[in-house]
Amino acid sequence: MGRVFMDYCVELHNEGKCDSATASMAKYRLTDTQCKVADECVQLHGGYGYMWEYLVGRGFADARVQRIYAGTNEIMKELISRKVLA
Ligand SMILES: Cc1cc2nc3c(=O)[nH]c(=O)nc-3n(C[C@H](O)[C@H](O)[C@H](O)COP(=O)(O)OP(=O)(O)OC[C@H]3O[C@@H](n4cnc5c(N)ncnc54)[C@H](O)[C@@H]3O)c2cc1C
Repeated sequence: MGRVFMDYCVELHNEGKCDSATASMAKYRLTDTQCKVADECVQLHGGYGYMWEYLVGRGFADARVQRIYAGTNEIMKELISRKVLA
């Protein structure tokens, strides 16, 4: 679902039609999913997954910031709701 939605957003962007609410939906949903997947990967690898020396641990840390920068995901929800309610 995420891949299809992202492809759709890229198509819109290429046509100059990707509005900020749609971009916010992509940012919110996909980074949220990225964090859930990274968290499951850490769990699967047990203690090794948590260690900085292992790629899984680094992937988890890298994923976590995605929900914060470029506008936090809570702000994405606000932007989306403003468009939906407008
Ligand atoms: C590695 C990294 C790189 C960055 N690079 C850049 C960059 O290149 N350019 C740039 O301009 N900025 C950059 N930033 C800043 C980034 O955009 C901000 O960290 C981000 O917008 C969040 O702002 P804040 O840190 O002030 O958190 P805050 O706004 O203080 O948020 C703290 C918490 O409060 C919540 N919150 C805040 N307001 C609301 C609200 N209205 N409703 C609900 N919840 C709310 C947030 O969701 C979050 O959970 C970077 C940040 C990081 C970590």
